[in-house]
Amino acid sequence: MSKHIVILGGGESGVGAALLAKQQGYTVFLSDGGILKDKYKKELTSAGIDFEEGGHTADKVLAADEVVKSPGIPEKNELVKSIRLKGIPVISEIELAYRFKGDSKIIAITGSNGKSTTTSLIYHICETVGLDCALVGNIGYSFAKQVAEDPKEWYIAEISSFQLDDIKAFKADVAILLNITEDHLDRYEYKFENYINSKFRIIENQTINDYFIYCDDDEIITQKLPLLTIHTNPLPFSMKHEVKKGGYIKGDQMMLRIQEERVSMSIYDFALKGKHNQYNTMAAGIAAATIGIRKEKIREAVNNFHNLEHRMEFVAMVRGIEFINDSKATNVNSTWYALESMNKPTVLILGGTDKGNDYSLIADLVKEKVKAIICMGVDNKKIIDTFKGLVPVIIETDSAKKAVNAAFRSAAKDDVVLLSPACASFDLFKNYEDRGMQFKDAVKEL
Ligand code: ADP
Repeated sequence: MSKHIVILGGGESGVGAALLAKQQGYTVFLSDGGILKDKYKKELTSAGIDFEEGGHTADKVLAADEVVKSPGIPEKNELVKSIRLKGIPVISEIELAYRFKGDSKIIAITGSNGKSTTTSLIYHICETVGLDCALVGNIGYSFAKQVAEDPKEWYIAEISSFQLDDIKAFKADVAILLNITEDHLDRYEYKFENYINSKFRIIENQTINDYFIYCDDDEIITQKLPLLTIHTNPLPFSMKHEVKKGGYIKGDQMMLRIQEERVSMSIYDFALKGKHNQYNTMAAGIAAATIGIRKEKIREAVNNFHNLEHRMEFVAMVRGIEFINDSKATNVNSTWYALESMNKPTVLILGGTDKGNDYSLIADLVKEKVKAIICMGVDNKKIIDTFKGLVPVIIETDSAKKAVNAAFRSAAKDDVVLLSPACASFDLFKNYEDRGMQFKDAVKEL
């Protein structure tokens, strides 16, 4: 075992990794180029962990036997390049957590969209039956912190591609790949293939005793899968055709076929609405049945689940205009699903930090349903270039308040104002939650 571990990045996952490494007997040093939140500083200090912030001391970082790199730090970072050049092993926080999780089991959820929703739903189902479990990863505690402070028999883990980039032995007992659409290309040398490969690492170490649940309607997934040698048990799900094992929706019925278990359920009983959520619910149902949760309990939990904030969240009805907060739509595909589920004339608030978006993917839906686009970003040129001529009204704004006011003026009774930006939020907001909250506040002030 390596003795001295350096953690790069002091957010939720970095601090979690530091706490776990320290507990497991490593000497630990954490280094962050930015400023740490007070709560994290306190946690590090009370655990006696040495750290620096506001810059990295290269010598101290390069003294590591092993580095845990936080998911937010890109490969093009100069220090990361030096670490690679020196040949110091780099792992992600989930790899460290995996190393010390003992006999516990993991359900790991990845995909471009729907991870948080599906992870939360699976957790809800597991809680309904009283499983000793925790929700970890991008939502809730980091996996490492959970392992360090409150280990459980089951971890329901939301896993990003960045976390998968630096795994070695990490393996899920049940892996879910919801979909793959272009996202985060800035981190993958603008090569979609690199991002696809990264997502598929979720099954890299799986064996014949494990399960792989994936969307059989996703062409990127189905094209890639035959090219891989897989050792796991595939459980596809589809809305287009029946499957022998896995799940499908036919008419208004969801059917799950897992081992001897047969579950059928009306899609009208799903708490989560919209086509994308039918996929998420199916994936969650298969995962639950795979680990032996009884169908009555799956039905009950799928039925009484409450969706998360900032995902197609109804905000208010103001003078007959409905406002929906889908701030979590940070890529074009999520916005596609949001628009797809609209059945009223729509004023769409779009824009933010572009991650290499191809807006032509939503052009048809925009043409069909959108009466005005309100750009909300620092640089709106790409959106304007794509949609001028397709949409009668395009207005530029640079704050949530201005965007809401402009949208309100552009909308009429029985229209909907949809915030589904297709972009990250970092140009104008702290994060997507901040963007969603500011949107909701502005709507409430109308
Ligand atoms: P993630 O954690 O992967 O970002 P979320 O569950 O937070 O996903 O949902 C993010 C956005 O993607 C929401 O705007 C939601 O409407 C949309 N979405 C959710 N599930 C899917 C899906 N299966 N396919 C496409 N879009 C989805």
